Amino acid sequence: MESSDDRLKVAVNIRPLTALELRNGCTDCVTVTPSKAQVQIGSHVFTYDYVYGSSGSQPSQLFEECVVPLVDTLLCGYNATVLAYGQTGSGKSYTMGTNYHGEANDGAITHRVMEKIFEKVDKLRDEREFLIRVSFVEIFKDEVFDLLDQHDDGQVMRTGRGLQRVPIKIREKALGDITLAGVNEPVVKSKGEMALFLARGSLNRATASTRMNSHSSRSHAIFTICIEQKRKTSSSHSDCGDLLVSKLRLVDLAGSERVKRTGSDGLMFKEGIHINKGLLALGNVISALGDEKKRKKGAFVPYRDSKLTRLLQDSLGGNGKTIMIACISPADSNAKETINTLQYANRAR
Ligand code: ADP
Repeated sequence: MESSDDRLKVAVNIRPLTALELRNGCTDCVTVTPSKAQVQIGSHVFTYDYVYGSSGSQPSQLFEECVVPLVDTLLCGYNATVLAYGQTGSGKSYTMGTNYHGEANDGAITHRVMEKIFEKVDKLRDEREFLIRVSFVEIFKDEVFDLLDQHDDGQVMRTGRGLQRVPIKIREKALGDITLAGVNEPVVKSKGEMALFLARGSLNRATASTRMNSHSSRSHAIFTICIEQKRKTSSSHSDCGDLLVSKLRLVDLAGSERVKRTGSDGLMFKEGIHINKGLLALGNVISALGDEKKRKKGAFVPYRDSKLTRLLQDSLGGNGKTIMIACISPADSNAKETINTLQYANRAR
């Protein structure tokens, strides 16, 4: 059994000041001590497992250090999760690459992950058979929606309140395996096919966001890669079992900023509660999991408090690995939200 230190790691990723921030005269208020993976803002000092961004680190470094170990875990049959947390505009989508419309930046995790998975799988094809499937959902107002649903009429229903999307249900199977009832899970044979579904889901998310008059930064996007592998001949040298099923979840969380109470019709505030419910529950789950002593005492981990944590239950618990990437802006104008993000991420340690 791995220690909780190996199961849950926390990285901070600091994006550069944007052109707009520079034009507005914002200054960089975040100091990093790379040797200690330490971040300082004002009088607050926090230490994490990794810090990237302002110290001249390359996008590939975050991937190699934080995500490649998760791909290895996945191929050994354990679940893994990458979570991107932070206020809107802090670089979550940029870092994750889950908002994909045909072109990805160099470091986008989803793209590098797809490449890495097929690179590894291709090397293992002589000894194992693989079945790889993907799904892509978003959680909005504590309801789960299938972003790979191709039929508009299947996803959207006319109700008394106009067009409504139809949410899908979370089911818990024996052994704690979490499934989504009727979710589209296409089989993919190449990185290209996988990217196609990522793009299709991203487009659906953007379309739904416009149609529902909402904004995608208020929903959590979850791209899941499920790998089934079977040994062709029983080799005593393999450290994996005969049939292994594991999932990698890539999660671009909703913006963590506090939603203002001043929504004209109160709608904004209601959504805010739902988002905070997911992020709040996730914070509680993560700090419970991160506390080895509590785990030994069989402490209660509150997965059921939100759809987000229920869905992530089978990857956050157990022997899988999770990396939380706290994305922050270095701008002084964002200092308050940046401190909130750093404090949230600190709970996981
Ligand atoms: P979020 O998903 O948290 O709302 P985005 O990923 O959309 O934030 O990023 C906000 C802006 O910052 C975008 O214009 C994006 O291109 C830019 N950005 C984010 N991270 C980086 C980075 N590491 N390097 C360069 N630009 C970045």
